[in-house]
Amino acid sequence: MSPRRAPQDGVTRLDGYGYRELLTMLGDPARVETRYATAIGWQPGDGRPALATDDPAVAQAMGRCALDRAVRGDTPVGGVARLRMVHSTPCGWCDYPLDELVAACAHAVWTSRFVAVEFAVWEGVHGREEARPTGRAGTYENPVWAAFFALSPGDRRRRIDHAAAREVSA
Ligand SMILES: [Zn+2]
Repeated sequence: MSPRRAPQDGVTRLDGYGYRELLTMLGDPARVETRYATAIGWQPGDGRPALATDDPAVAQAMGRCALDRAVRGDTPVGGVARLRMVHSTPCGWCDYPLDELVAACAHAVWTSRFVAVEFAVWEGVHGREEARPTGRAGTYENPVWAAFFALSPGDRRRRIDHAAAREVSA
């Protein structure tokens, strides 16, 4: 990308420039605002849930079980049928209380550090702020989660299936 000169007048002239172009023209932003994904059922300050896991495959298995149980009988047949493709009943998590699974999943969402929204903000540009998305939305900061979702769908599925069945004997 070739550097461009910043417009000398008219704030609206920056509207057509994206994040990387503004980085080149204006330098580091004054601040970066990041919002991470959260889920209902647990929040920072609640302490580590009883079923908390640091393994994305385990969290996926628990989440599929919890989701299936939560919507069963409360969803059009077609929706349940699609869900059954990812939750073969019973799995190793079916005997655990739903609220404990939900808490563990919400905790996993938080620890995955999934970037839901992120903006870089430059201040005092022609008397106002300029904000642009950084392009990191949709990525995982937690390297364990990033590595998990870098696997092929088949490899992820095998790990999730293993995680769903492994707890049967526990
Ligand atoms: Zn289950």
